[in-house]
Amino acid sequence: MKRLVILGGGYGGLRIIERVLSPDLPDNVFVTLVDRMPFHGLKTEYYALAAGTEPEKAVRVPFPSDPRLTIKFGEVTGVNMDERIVTFANGDTLAYDWLVIALGCEDRYHDIPGAEQYTHSIQTMNATRNTYTAINNLGPYGTVTIIGGGLSGVELASELRESRPDLNIRIVDRGPSILSPFPKKLQQYASQWFIEHDVQLVSMASVTRVEPGVVYNHNEPVETDVTVWTAGIQASRIVRALPIEKDNIGRAKLNQYHQIPEYPNVYVVGDCASLPIAPSAQSAELQGEQIAMMLKKDIKGEEYPASLPDIKHKGFLGSLGKKEGFGVMGKVSLVGQMPRVMKSGVLWMYKKHLG
Ligand SMILES: Cc1cc2nc3c(=O)[nH]c(=O)nc-3n(C[C@H](O)[C@H](O)[C@H](O)COP(=O)(O)OP(=O)(O)OC[C@H]3O[C@@H](n4cnc5c(N)ncnc54)[C@H](O)[C@@H]3O)c2cc1C
Repeated sequence: MKRLVILGGGYGGLRIIERVLSPDLPDNVFVTLVDRMPFHGLKTEYYALAAGTEPEKAVRVPFPSDPRLTIKFGEVTGVNMDERIVTFANGDTLAYDWLVIALGCEDRYHDIPGAEQYTHSIQTMNATRNTYTAINNLGPYGTVTIIGGGLSGVELASELRESRPDLNIRIVDRGPSILSPFPKKLQQYASQWFIEHDVQLVSMASVTRVEPGVVYNHNEPVETDVTVWTAGIQASRIVRALPIEKDNIGRAKLNQYHQIPEYPNVYVVGDCASLPIAPSAQSAELQGEQIAMMLKKDIKGEEYPASLPDIKHKGFLGSLGKKEGFGVMGKVSLVGQMPRVMKSGVLWMYKKHLG
């Protein structure tokens, strides 16, 4: 009997499971998926859950059901790669022959005092539920400060504007514009949308401290009722604690087959893997495809290919509320209703595919 254990049923982990559970999987291989949640969370949509525009049921999908798959629910606390054992918060352990670490990422607070204690998060389903409660319990004309004007901050702010027209909303970003890694056309379009929808944009900010009800920008206090942190990520703490080489945000450095070089029976996928392209659901899935292919070779004792193709993004899509959006397809920047419709279509197909 051979044991394949996959830690994390997010975008990367789930894609690997789908591909590995093919008809040619040998009978003596037992596949176990481990997650703290009893369903696949659609993390790319957590902003809508936080804003109150989508119910929780809309941002989750059941895990696959297959007689060859065992699902173990629990909080992973560590991996001992020498002993090939996963440990859990309740004291359980789980042994493996091959392991995939697909545990995603956490917020990164850049050592800013109070940031972790006094801001809300949309990185996990549970944190997003708390954020939803904090925001939606605000009385009329309360103030929400979103720190970080990247994709998730922008999607949250716009969705929240449509959900709660009464609230004062501001996005605080350290760059000259929101969406700074994206083409100028998108930055300008999104900025204009926020101006027209009465969302304050604070650029060239430097958040130096956070306290209950106060965010300090360049040490100047700014009052707020709820503060949401969307200003950076780092690898899951489980990966950060591994005794291996990591990048500056704690992601595992891997060999060309997505394995930990000293432990080639351990693969790392998605937001906790150090990849040359930006972390995203799409890159987690594309990397997952390659890992599934490598795992099948491991399982069958087949030779590895000389190299794997580069992982390339096909593009991305973002939303500005329910009716407008933006995106990049190849070299073309898209703004307006069309990218929003495309984003909804991609989500619909993804959910339909997973059943
Ligand atoms: C608001 C928001 C919007 C986004 N929008 C987009 C977008 O439009 N397009 C895009 O491509 N990307 C987007 N992203 C990024 C995308 O969600 C991530 O890159 C993607 O989820 C990474 O997939 P993953 O498989 O690495 O991790 P995840 O999908 O985060 O999966 C990790 C899994 O591990 C489980 N887990 C974690 N720790 C433990 C533990 N200790 N014990 C047990 N289980 C654990 C979690 O429950 C989860 O199921 C967005 C992110 C956010 C927050």
